[in-house]
Amino acid sequence: MTNRVDVVVIGGGQAGLAAGYHLRRRGLDFTVLDADPAPGGSWQHMWDSLHLFSPAEHSSLPGRLMPAQAGETYPDAGHVVDYLADYEKRYDLPVQHGTRVDAVRRDGERLLVEADTGTWRTRAVISATGTWSRPFLPAVPGRSAFAGRQLHTVNYHSPADFTDQHVIVVGGGNSGAQIAADLALDGQVKVTWVTQRSPRFLADDIDGRALFDVATARRRALDAGRDDAGGVASLGDIVAVPPVRAARDAGLLVARPMFARLTAEGVRWADGSHADADAVIWCTGFRPALAHLAPLNLRSARGHIPTDGTRALGEPRLHLLGYGDWTGPASATLIGVGRPARDAAHEIAALCAHN
Ligand code: FAD
Repeated sequence: MTNRVDVVVIGGGQAGLAAGYHLRRRGLDFTVLDADPAPGGSWQHMWDSLHLFSPAEHSSLPGRLMPAQAGETYPDAGHVVDYLADYEKRYDLPVQHGTRVDAVRRDGERLLVEADTGTWRTRAVISATGTWSRPFLPAVPGRSAFAGRQLHTVNYHSPADFTDQHVIVVGGGNSGAQIAADLALDGQVKVTWVTQRSPRFLADDIDGRALFDVATARRRALDAGRDDAGGVASLGDIVAVPPVRAARDAGLLVARPMFARLTAEGVRWADGSHADADAVIWCTGFRPALAHLAPLNLRSARGHIPTDGTRALGEPRLHLLGYGDWTGPASATLIGVGRPARDAAHEIAALCAHN
């Protein structure tokens, strides 16, 4: 049986829920299909000690402030999951959990969304599938030779899994710094942190609020045709959240340069020095999860789908939400996704009014 709705939102994480909020306000008939069996998007899979880099009130989706978490300035991932689950219920958003979309195809005037539980015929699609399901690992010589464990950020849970082991953490972004700090502060794990270039810590008084302000100022400047002031990347890479600051100040977060290759026992640097290791954790980022859109044939050589705002240039019935700044400044953050979600719902309402 084929279901019919005005709009299908693919993905029920924060981006999909923000889209749902604005579609509901526009009175559109929609459904949200989400592969995860439970609410919370990728937040339900993050490591045990992860905390947001902004206070709760600066991490909110449209319509509802995130409540503060007792005893925590920066809420933990579990608190975000609770907030998203409550948001879904509060706005009665029609999320079908445990439904994975395999393909979106053109079908004359409509789009066809094929999932493992059924098919939907729709006027418009918002794809909000995030990046968590597409961890990126760089091609480094010897990777298959290493006899120890190799994990990506997505598989890391807690230092308890590495007691008395030597762990190499690769990556100079927030995930790398936070996981290296988490392991080092535990005191029972030997950690070597390696980064491609020297780590760039943001000033200690800069957290997610300031990053969002910079992203917003950049958007305004670009909208007004002024010069690009460089955005958040000009400030540094690593937010000095309390555990990162504590590890850095204790001298536990000193990065070594990237090694040249893995060996069976560990890693070897270009100068010939070698370190035995039990595990390597690759904190080397993500790619957008866009495989379900392959039949539309929209991807550029960079692996993105070119957009005007959130609307795909090659398919005006498709919007992309979240993923990264290419779908709107800060659109892959809790506080930043509201505006592009509103714009997408606005454009889709206009589209639906005309056909
Ligand atoms: P996700 O949360 O990944 O949700 C996507 C949903 O789509 C999932 O539920 C998934 O099951 C579903 N899905 C995927 N593929 C399919 C498919 N084919 N069919 C159906 N469903 C599908 N942001 C902040 O604002 N503050 C922070 O402090 C912060 N810290 C971060 C720390 C880390 C380590 C990371 C990785 C990110 C952090 N972010 C932070 C960034 C951002 O908020 C998250 O990446 C966010 O989870 C993205 O939300 P999303 O809804 O786009 O994707």
